[in-house]
Amino acid sequence: MDYSYLSTPIEYLRTVGPARATLLQRELGIHTFGDLLEYYPFRYLDRTRFITINQIAETNNYIVTKGVITDIKTVGEGRKMRLTAILRDVTGSLELVWFQGIKWVKESLRTNVEYLVLGRPTLFNGSYNIAHPDLEPVKPEGEAVAQSFIPIYSSTEKLKSRGFSTKGISKIMSVLLGDAHGNIPETLPKHIISRFGLMGREEAMFNIHFPKDAETNAKAVRRLKFEEVFMMQLEYLYAKTERREKGRGFVFNHIGNYFNSFYKNNLPFELTGAQKRVVREIYTDMRTGKQMNRLLQGDVGSGKTLVALLCMLIACDNGFQACLMAPTEILATQHFANIMKFLQNIGIEAELLTGSTKPASKRKIKERLQKGEIQILIGTHALIEKDVVFANLGLVVIDEQHRFGVEQRAKMWAKNTIPPHILVMTATPIPRTLAMTVYGDLDCSIIDELPPGRKPIRTLHQYDGDRLKVFGFMKRQISAGHQIYVVYPLINESEKLDLKDLMDGYESISRAFPQPQYQISIVHGQMKADAKDYEMERFKKGQTHIMVSTTVIEVGVDVPNASVMVIENAERFGLSQLHQLRGRVGRGAEQSYCILMTSDKLTTDGRARIKTMVETTDGFKIAEADLKLRGPGDLQGLQQSGVIDLKLADIVQDENMIRVARDTVNEILSSDPRLLSPENSLLKRYVQKKSAKINWGRIS
Ligand code: ADP
Ligand code: MG
Repeated sequence: MDYSYLSTPIEYLRTVGPARATLLQRELGIHTFGDLLEYYPFRYLDRTRFITINQIAETNNYIVTKGVITDIKTVGEGRKMRLTAILRDVTGSLELVWFQGIKWVKESLRTNVEYLVLGRPTLFNGSYNIAHPDLEPVKPEGEAVAQSFIPIYSSTEKLKSRGFSTKGISKIMSVLLGDAHGNIPETLPKHIISRFGLMGREEAMFNIHFPKDAETNAKAVRRLKFEEVFMMQLEYLYAKTERREKGRGFVFNHIGNYFNSFYKNNLPFELTGAQKRVVREIYTDMRTGKQMNRLLQGDVGSGKTLVALLCMLIACDNGFQACLMAPTEILATQHFANIMKFLQNIGIEAELLTGSTKPASKRKIKERLQKGEIQILIGTHALIEKDVVFANLGLVVIDEQHRFGVEQRAKMWAKNTIPPHILVMTATPIPRTLAMTVYGDLDCSIIDELPPGRKPIRTLHQYDGDRLKVFGFMKRQISAGHQIYVVYPLINESEKLDLKDLMDGYESISRAFPQPQYQISIVHGQMKADAKDYEMERFKKGQTHIMVSTTVIEVGVDVPNASVMVIENAERFGLSQLHQLRGRVGRGAEQSYCILMTSDKLTTDGRARIKTMVETTDGFKIAEADLKLRGPGDLQGLQQSGVIDLKLADIVQDENMIRVARDTVNEILSSDPRLLSPENSLLKRYVQKKSAKINWGRIS
């Protein structure tokens, strides 16, 4: 255990105490002094640049103003009770309002004292007010110069009501930093500090929370940001190096009958050059005696499934079992059907296991799996379950869309005495920085070529008002023998409202495309699995002309005869989702179309997304555009799932820094792979601490 200052539990910080410590832990995940220190401000205000009350012109932006408080009173009763006060300067007045912590605010407010007021004005009945402002008495002349930069910390209402407004947080921060001199050890080696001209850690901590001036603050932020991305890359790349050094893996050292007879007899087409190359890369990796952890990237339709199958056959040829895990049941089922077709007469035993496999057959499958009678198992998350036990699992393929984190991958490692080889396939390409941050611990193979003979999909943008025209186009496509998808966005599969959109759409399509001339399928998330399968099956067999569905068809569904994808409310989809959906068509030799239907009221972002889709079909370009458009804010899904954990760095804006950090770490590890040299001792300590944490996590 380490009893350093920074690992002291937060409740021991003066003025915090046990009750408020619990609050900090629960609301902000702050457990120790060190955690608090790393709770950085998200912006700053320059208090020397306050405005007078009559200069307030904008709403919802932080401002600083200055004045004297008068007329403090409570208004309303019970839940509607609020506290108001008037702030005046020579130019005018402004109302201040509190809805929470009223008693506390009332006791602490002083009338006829000049305050600096910080907050976001809103316009109400023609005049401005500020709710829950931060107040600070203007210090009398002659006293030590107050901090001119005020840090702004994000806070929650709950925290604010317990005294942790941004100012409350900065107060405990100043208590912490007041005792911190000499207690904030350096984490980066000297050679890194001097090479990149970085500020020391302690100085940086002072200047990120209480900056001396803008310039010093910028240096502090740069230093801590660099540390953040550097340590992240160190963790990934060290794990990778360590695995390569001592992480034993199964040796798949020959290609045998299964692979060869599939290749000779069952492969219906020539592999693309890129497919051949990545199979070779993967095979090379699997025969080194080290565990493979590899990412397979490729655009929609580039033929990743086939690559996965070839690798699984290599596993079988070497006497091992393999499994393929997909993010949805529909996709798992589809993979299973395709693979069964590919594997005819090869003599491989394959099974499908998902959440809706009947208990009796589930039991049977598990038994046979454990005896080694099943060679390839395909399924969903269900495969991760502890009671899915393999006789000799050698390869795990994960087909995903940013859905599985490092931890889930690690669970699959535990399925054999030596961890099986892992191949992660992304459903769409991901930008380089994202690959470096989310999959930074994996080696990467890229399929950068589509199978020959594909005509680029033509993408059109149509407004809702043009629906009749679109219906006409659909009819012509159907009479030419093609099939059509119509997809509705579903933000939340359980939301009735979304389902209503789908049902309304289905009805109007049913009216425009009457039976028996036209047959329509419908599939959505609230249907039972066998009803879904039945409808999918009808569409696949060409018995229905139109498939109306939610995004359940998003990933992987493969019907080469479908030539039109109509996406309703396209403005509500993200770019990668649109690209993924569009990839459902254009698989046959015919010209295919994607029609993006939107209302005529589009946001700037919505319009940019539609424009990108119309202009390009290159998944890598779309992925870059997507990341730029959404920015890091919308990557929250990733952030929350713990896949990306960055406090300061922004994977779009700081791409360059991330790359430099990664190159530097690579350089260090190539000359000192186990970090044994004294000049890297701090780095060694960091990775040891990290791996201790992971191991504890696994035990508990
Ligand atoms: P994705 O990379 O999106 O998962 P799939 O593996 O589903 O792509 O492949 C898309 C389609 O292309 C499938 O119908 C597959 O059979 C076909 N395909 C794969 N490889 C080739 C190839 N080399 N030549 C022709 N068609 C191919
Ligand atoms: Mg796929």
